[in-house]
Amino acid sequence: MTELRPSPISATVDFEAEGVQHGHLRLPWSRDDSAWGSVMIPVCVVKRGEGPTALLTGANHGDEYEGPIALFDLARTLRAEAVTGRVIIVPAMNYPAFRAATRTSPIDKGNLNRSFPGRPDGTATEKIADYVTRALLPLADLVLDFHSGGRTLDFLPYAAAHELPDEAQEKRCFEAVAAFSAPWSMKMIEIDAVGMFDTVTEMAGKVFVTTELGGGGTATAKSVAIARRGVANVLRHAGILAGEPEAGPTRWLDMPSADCFGFSEEEGLVEFLKDLGDPLTRGEPIARIYPLGRTGAAPFEHCAALDGLLAARHFPGLVKPGDCLAVVATEVGGP
Ligand code: ZN
Repeated sequence: MTELRPSPISATVDFEAEGVQHGHLRLPWSRDDSAWGSVMIPVCVVKRGEGPTALLTGANHGDEYEGPIALFDLARTLRAEAVTGRVIIVPAMNYPAFRAATRTSPIDKGNLNRSFPGRPDGTATEKIADYVTRALLPLADLVLDFHSGGRTLDFLPYAAAHELPDEAQEKRCFEAVAAFSAPWSMKMIEIDAVGMFDTVTEMAGKVFVTTELGGGGTATAKSVAIARRGVANVLRHAGILAGEPEAGPTRWLDMPSADCFGFSEEEGLVEFLKDLGDPLTRGEPIARIYPLGRTGAAPFEHCAALDGLLAARHFPGLVKPGDCLAVVATEVGGP
């Protein structure tokens, strides 16, 4: 294997220095309006003494807001005296996408959470992924990566981890999910885990927690409160902040198979017959899809492939073939 070249990204903070630092990860981006210009990705490091390191990331997708709100706020308020160990906060990891309020980067259309482990000599998005993989991830014991549905999906608010080949690591991940104490906690499966930050973090043996806290391209007072409390709880659980996690009731969900994901085969106007959290039985209609071009045509019905409850749904009023229309999860007693 040939050795990878160094990352073109440089940090204006010193990850080993004690105290609070606010700075940037500077990614060179030569372009029409700035020949020797850069993307300036905000970063905050808070370090005091010896202890574990938490890497906290938001806006892996640029149109998901609970993470950035909770993390910009945490970076503004976290004092070094409160920390044992280190907290690295990147509130808007795909910063170009965050600034454009889009899922993917306007520079290269890169979907950061499909670009890991990235490339130092790749696109702007691949360069961010590579820097996170090779420069930030090795510093971390625990990673909390915030997601929500963005503009096209809406979710029951949950923290999640994946089943892992290493049982001890899986247990540590689900303990951190439980500590987050979202209203819902999920044993999550992915449609395609290739290129995800989740996957490289888990393969590196770290404790990894992800979330889906809402969606629709916005955040609510409730969903932001869940994010704020969750990140503080995870830091307490890790021993980085003092005190015990503020436990709240959480209901555990499982995604037992790929049947959980329902995809539209039609184009049309969506009428959801169920809302998030509603119980479903196998074969029960979740949504009607009305053809757009004529009156008098019967709507298509999209039905649940298993018993469970509606954990996520397509958000916009119109749907296209291939869109993820609904996710059905099953309630279980624990992780
Ligand atoms: Zn996302």
